[in-house]
Amino acid sequence: MMWVFLGIIAVQGTFKAQALPLNQAVQTNNPWLTVAQTAAIQGGAVAVKGAVQQVTVPIHPQVIPVPVQHLLSRTTRGSELLHEFFKSQVQVESGSVSRTEFTALRRVSDPAPRGWKIVIHLNTSKDDIDQALDLAHELTHALSPRLNPYDPNLTLEGYVEHGIEGPGGEADAIMTECVVGQQLMNSVDVSDRERIRRRCLTAWNAVEDRSDAKKNKNRIASLTEEKKENWKKSFYAVGEYFGIAKHWLRHVSSLSQESPQFISAMAKRPYPLALIEEYLGISRALCTRVTDRIASGSASVLDHDFLRKRCANLFQ
Ligand SMILES: [Zn+2]
Repeated sequence: MMWVFLGIIAVQGTFKAQALPLNQAVQTNNPWLTVAQTAAIQGGAVAVKGAVQQVTVPIHPQVIPVPVQHLLSRTTRGSELLHEFFKSQVQVESGSVSRTEFTALRRVSDPAPRGWKIVIHLNTSKDDIDQALDLAHELTHALSPRLNPYDPNLTLEGYVEHGIEGPGGEADAIMTECVVGQQLMNSVDVSDRERIRRRCLTAWNAVEDRSDAKKNKNRIASLTEEKKENWKKSFYAVGEYFGIAKHWLRHVSSLSQESPQFISAMAKRPYPLALIEEYLGISRALCTRVTDRIASGSASVLDHDFLRKRCANLFQ
């Protein structure tokens, strides 16, 4: 049985499209398609630093470095993420940059992926505290619903908006890491507190309720809908990229010329630009395959629909 892979790599701060070989065959009993997958996952060994507090989540040393699990377990949000992770089929591996890689698997005639392979690459050369916040960020991406890249009706603007504002989007992932960071502030040493503060001050300032007398303890708990909206919209500040961003995202009214607060670590560009590149990369790869199938006479109805809706104006 022929399956088609499309690899989508979601990197911390950006996304990159990666087309994988078309002729890879996968058995239907591929282990990661089964519910009870046992992930053989490699985690970096890192020395435990300082006293370990009581943890509420079972420790799986083979998956995530133990000190990083301990740090996440000290927090409500981090514990929730770990619980969800251990029930999921998401894998964690060591990597040079923290990022999440999605691979969608489907048959050519299927309109939607049959499954996903999701691998978090965790930069285990970083300090424990940064690994913990990285992991909270990547788990937010990895455990959230994702768009179907094969959907003929998936638009560029919808893709960018979902990648920034949707569940598991960048606004969500950065806020989640900073909720975890906030919850760790009282249980880590001075240097770790400073690391968290440097990472999260922008996020905290964006949402803190200054009228809250307990703001230092619970800055993000009082997040209002209005503040959430403002936080998401702040990701559309693209500075010098405004012209090109507006060219592709004509109907996205939140785009602004203000200096970006966050830059994609991989793409070295603001998030809307990174997401535009990803969408175009995915669509171009898929459109090439569809065109090839049409040329060889093996195209499906879905292919023709996809070509009509997704493949125009990709090279403007
Ligand atoms: Zn991210």
